[in-house]
Amino acid sequence: MKKITVTIAGPRGRMGREAVQLVKETDHFSLISVIDHKNDVNMDVPVYTDIEQCFKDKAPDVLIDLTTPEVGYLHTKTSLEYGVRPVVGTTGFSHDELQELRELAQSKNLGCIIAPNFAIGAVLMMKFSQMAAKYFNDVEIIELHHDQKLDAPSGTAVKTAEMIKEVRTEKQQGHPSEKETHEGARGANIDGMHIHSVRLPGLIAHQQVMFGAEGQTLTIRHDSFNRGSFMSGVKVSVETVMNLETLVYGLENILD
Ligand code: NAP
Repeated sequence: MKKITVTIAGPRGRMGREAVQLVKETDHFSLISVIDHKNDVNMDVPVYTDIEQCFKDKAPDVLIDLTTPEVGYLHTKTSLEYGVRPVVGTTGFSHDELQELRELAQSKNLGCIIAPNFAIGAVLMMKFSQMAAKYFNDVEIIELHHDQKLDAPSGTAVKTAEMIKEVRTEKQQGHPSEKETHEGARGANIDGMHIHSVRLPGLIAHQQVMFGAEGQTLTIRHDSFNRGSFMSGVKVSVETVMNLETLVYGLENILD
């Protein structure tokens, strides 16, 4: 069986380090290079600061990107232009950026997976929340992450709201005359749903979706206690992207 050759962007990061270990430990994957913006990085594979040079020299099957929103977007675009299939865990892409990447993947007939959350339990949390939203119109999302996270609300919270939006009857929640006496008290507003972002040291990635109705609440919660929790999702994405010809957004769309 031919090994899937992989390049990782962001190999020194918290997620990147786990991904390097995963690719090295998986028999049918082969780590052939990494991309970093620093050139004094000590790795046992070639380190590139220029992504285009990396693709010209190495032509990997898959790029795993675990960097920052701006860099991740540019890497994904370049990857598709070079015929390299992106598996992207980087969060914070705008709607327009996602649409542009979707069209680029389509025009190249190339697989691309962008997953705001690679943890299987988080995907189930989103699916269960979508099921519940058919019966509960009122929902608030509380996402909790470590204090080094750059984007807010989290990609998972936005994705959850989008999935709920597909089945929920639109409603502006709370009292029609409610006023924030301190700006931001009610959080972000997506389609009338409110999203609250907590940032604290000690946390990794957590989310609670709370539904309310007359005399009852329902809370669905997922906790990632370490970054290893994301790696089974990265593995299945690298395998699956090889057989795709379009962009897929969200791990739930490639799991049975
Ligand atoms: P992190 O520890 O800050 O790692 C990001 C890494 O990217 C750093 O090593 C950074 O280097 C590097 N980097 C910055 N610019 C670069 C460039 N031009 N080329 C190559 N590398 C570059 O962050 P993290 O916690 O690993 O998270 C990485 C991304 O994954 C974030 O967007 C985060 O939200 C997302 N995430 C996704 C999931 C998921 O399941 N999908 C789970 C957790 C996190 P410097 O430190 O030198 O700047």
